[in-house]
Amino acid sequence: MTRALPATPGRWFSEEELHRSNAYHRPLRRAAQLADGGFAVLVVVLWVLDPAVAVTAVVLAIAVVLRAVGGDLVMDRVAEPAIGEAPLPLRRLLISSVPVAMLRAGLVGALILALDAAVDRPWLIGVVPVILVALALLVAEWWFDLVHRPTPAGGPSSSVVAEVASRLDVDPPHVQTTASPAFPGPTAMTLGARRPRIVTTAALDGAEPQLLEWVVAHEFAHVRRRDVPRGRVAAWLAVGAASVAAAVTAASVDSSGTRALLMTMGAGLTVWLIMQLALMARSRHAERLADDVAAAVLGPRPAVVRALVSGPRARLDPTLWERISAPHPTPAERLRRMTTR
Ligand SMILES: [Zn+2]
Repeated sequence: MTRALPATPGRWFSEEELHRSNAYHRPLRRAAQLADGGFAVLVVVLWVLDPAVAVTAVVLAIAVVLRAVGGDLVMDRVAEPAIGEAPLPLRRLLISSVPVAMLRAGLVGALILALDAAVDRPWLIGVVPVILVALALLVAEWWFDLVHRPTPAGGPSSSVVAEVASRLDVDPPHVQTTASPAFPGPTAMTLGARRPRIVTTAALDGAEPQLLEWVVAHEFAHVRRRDVPRGRVAAWLAVGAASVAAAVTAASVDSSGTRALLMTMGAGLTVWLIMQLALMARSRHAERLADDVAAAVLGPRPAVVRALVSGPRARLDPTLWERISAPHPTPAERLRRMTTR
């Protein structure tokens, strides 16, 4: 296996592309960091002053507003004009922001309630995250269907899927397509732990055949490798390990109240962070293999991969932290791999 050697972004992308990528991502990152940091400080201050205050709806409302403004609205209102796209219709703003903000509100609310209840029962911190992750995994697909409304695909993507399936000599998976404004680019994703399906975007159906074939072959590899169910098991193991660490700490700390809770949370969060990085490394490995399968089936197509990964929203030269916390290899690494295999 080729290791993830550093690939120089400047070798693959022009000055102008790198500049555009930074102009798009920098305000986004700042806004999200400020929102998260502000919220964390607020919760800690309120909680230290009086643990009961942290549960108030006011804190929850502030969290949701901060995150929506920082992470989602800034992306659409500030970052996109910076890369020269036309202002967005209201529908797109709502689709990309409101359901996500609502889901976050629910999860953050449940966590805050758990923290509040856990002052006297630290073991709760070991149990509640497992339940929340289980719920999140259960509703994720239902949520996707509700928000992005995929419909059975009858266009070019389903015939390409049938063709790639016959080349690989396997049964074609179910194909759907979504016209959701949340996915403006030509892309596809594999969903479904029990019955895998490929969901393509409307833009992909209109894309040139070479690009369409490449994206479908890549997703096909995810279906064949059972990456969705594997990823789900890995996510379970990750949160389970964090919960065990929290529960063991809770059982071995011989004090109660705030100090025990902080130690329990510290142990759980540390293990959780390490497990998240491991999950992302596993995901990047699966992505490299999916690229390899596409290259084996179709022949290497660096120009196609370049067109895919240099879209206006692509992060072309990520920082070290962005690299190790991302589910995909960097765009430059994918291109280098394609040309040096
Ligand atoms: Zn992939």
